[in-house]
Amino acid sequence: MIRQVAIVTIGNEILDGIILDTNTKWMIERLKPLGLMVKEVIIVRDDILEIGRAINRAVEDGCGLILTSGGLGPTHDDMTLKGVAEAFHLPLAVNEEGLAIVARQYRQLYEAGRIESGEITEARRKMAVFPEGARSLDNKVGGAPGVLLEREGFEVVSLPGVPHELMWIFDNQLIPHITQNLDESYYEEVLSLPLRDESTLAPLIDEAMRRVTGVWIKSLVKPYGERGIKFWVSARGKDKGELEIRVKEAIDILVQLAKDHLPSG
Ligand code: ATP
Repeated sequence: MIRQVAIVTIGNEILDGIILDTNTKWMIERLKPLGLMVKEVIIVRDDILEIGRAINRAVEDGCGLILTSGGLGPTHDDMTLKGVAEAFHLPLAVNEEGLAIVARQYRQLYEAGRIESGEITEARRKMAVFPEGARSLDNKVGGAPGVLLEREGFEVVSLPGVPHELMWIFDNQLIPHITQNLDESYYEEVLSLPLRDESTLAPLIDEAMRRVTGVWIKSLVKPYGERGIKFWVSARGKDKGELEIRVKEAIDILVQLAKDHLPSG
């Protein structure tokens, strides 16, 4: 049963500030309604040992689902699958199912006149070289298949960095796979109150959380002096209806308790 998720984002371009890691935010937003909590996000450079270390750390931290983003392409710096193999000391070999996806995608791109040749070159074959025991996740919008490695107690899923490819595989291949094994749900609401000082609210938040068990409240402040504090109220558990009731109850309590701190008029 998956409880906690780790995201390992891979790419020098992210750590050099050239691109922003939007894939992580997008995945977190998709995982939340499934009741899956992201425990940690680790960003590493295109380096086999660093990728392997990040994956091992996520395993040690008890994450049941480890998602990697980026580094599945045909170029020399795309080394995610070598990093996954490194983490578990697995040999790498061409995966026939993966190769069939790569071949189909390049053939279609060629037939559509979008590339010069549809051949399986060495660089393209590289995208089908998986750690032993891994299987492919179809990619109908790009060249590199996703890769799923199931191990005892956890899974490592490698997705391409190109956002629309990552999204397609996530929604069409990964979600149907992970929802088979889920028994938790998630509910959240964000409300805004015209308050100013977060420190005076701390006891109110504590009180609301004490009175409604299993509810998490976080305040999201604006700079001092500006009125308007957002509250993000959430709960995880088995019964989505029950979670919604609890979140709304906590909000009611918070609004009542905060009344003394609201501006008059
Ligand atoms: P491809 O198969 O197309 O080569 P890839 O898996 O090798 O994809 P990368 O080469 O790591 O992916 O990234 C390709 C492009 O995707 C990057 O140049 C960047 O524009 C975008 N990208 C990569 N990682 C992220 C990320 N975490 N968030 C947003 N965009 C990203």
